[in-house]
Amino acid sequence: MDLQDDDIFLHLSHRPRHILNGVISVDESTELASTTIQRDSLLGRLDKLPLEVLHEFLSYLDLQSLWRLSRVFLRGKAVVEFLHEYRKLAKFAAHTFKILKQARIVGLYSVSTLYAAFYSKRCISCGAYGAFLFLLSAKRCCFACLVDNQSLWMILLLLVRECFGLTKQQVKALPVMWSIPGKLSSVKAAKELALKVHRLLEELATIYPLDSWNLPTHKMDKFIWYRQAPLDLLSQDPLTIPDANIRPLDEFCGMGSIPFPSLLSGRGSTEPEQGLWCRGCEFTYKECAIEEMDYITLSRLVPPYYRAWSKADFLQHAKHCHSAAAVISQKWIGST
Ligand SMILES: [Zn+2]
Ligand SMILES: [Zn+2]
Repeated sequence: MDLQDDDIFLHLSHRPRHILNGVISVDESTELASTTIQRDSLLGRLDKLPLEVLHEFLSYLDLQSLWRLSRVFLRGKAVVEFLHEYRKLAKFAAHTFKILKQARIVGLYSVSTLYAAFYSKRCISCGAYGAFLFLLSAKRCCFACLVDNQSLWMILLLLVRECFGLTKQQVKALPVMWSIPGKLSSVKAAKELALKVHRLLEELATIYPLDSWNLPTHKMDKFIWYRQAPLDLLSQDPLTIPDANIRPLDEFCGMGSIPFPSLLSGRGSTEPEQGLWCRGCEFTYKECAIEEMDYITLSRLVPPYYRAWSKADFLQHAKHCHSAAAVISQKWIGST
């Protein structure tokens, strides 16, 4: 069957709700509320800078300061809103600003940092397409890594101290977001801080041994897992790591990430992508599940069904997808 691009996008691709519901839900049509100028004034010394220099300076200013500036000075508002990176983000990913504000991490990132993520496509953990933004690093990630790579798990500050032998003072150096369960950081950030403080994991284990006499089993399992968190790019697809039986429960799964569009096809492009998932692969997995094929073996033959793709990569994938023709012939439409 000769697959047409339109059919591929219309019938084979989708954005499954069960995956999008696995991260912080956002309204991707959010628009930025317009700011009110509190008083008109000059930008002081900044006002004397050429516009290009001013833009360069503002793009590296953290978002909180940037917004303060835009609220206080008339020219500041105009200059900020004219900033190329800011305009693009405000147009296509305004929901990100809202979530950063709610999580109280708006002071962590500049427009440049967020724009770099907007203009990238790779998951920081495995290198595949990342349809999500990991809020505590402003880097892209994929759903598989959010589930399977404990570096991207969220951890309560109280547990950070206990697991990694850090003081209340020391954990102040961590990026922290506010959430319903309390103040959360990431396991990766916590382990990196622990390595700075204790130098080696062995030293941490010597000073703060995980003692089964003092720790309940569920905590012990979790702490061992956290301490083993990989800090570098994974060497294999996270879904092919046979750890499902030993992996502890991630109670905050997806609570540190949001859907995040990407602008991939050149600076002049005006159409960002959201990531596409393959119905064909999902179909293959369901069929094989009926035949009880082992999941790890199957994932070596077929891309894991909750792998997301960019449009260009999806078209390539569709040519080789085992169930593409079967699914397209059924003419499903819309997301599931
Ligand atoms: Zn990944
Ligand atoms: Zn497929």
